[in-house]
Amino acid sequence: MNKRKSSANSARDDGEKDADYYLKGHYDNILLVRDNVLKRDIEVTIRGGALFCDYHETQDRQCQHIEFAYSLDEIIKLKKGGKVR
Ligand SMILES: [Zn+2]
Repeated sequence: MNKRKSSANSARDDGEKDADYYLKGHYDNILLVRDNVLKRDIEVTIRGGALFCDYHETQDRQCQHIEFAYSLDEIIKLKKGGKVR
């Protein structure tokens, strides 16, 4: 296994990295989702209160990245704050 050193400082290292998807980073309107199926990082952006997958160019919840993002605590908090529908 080739473990790359990440410059992004993550406090979480509890085995989530073995999951198909995990949240790699969260910046203002961007969620950086690691997709271990596609083996690439996917940006999910918040646009006008909805989530948009940059990779699939869709807001459709059938996109697994968006579905994953909606399950995150970060988005649930944003929903409560009214920033995401
Ligand atoms: Zn997607």
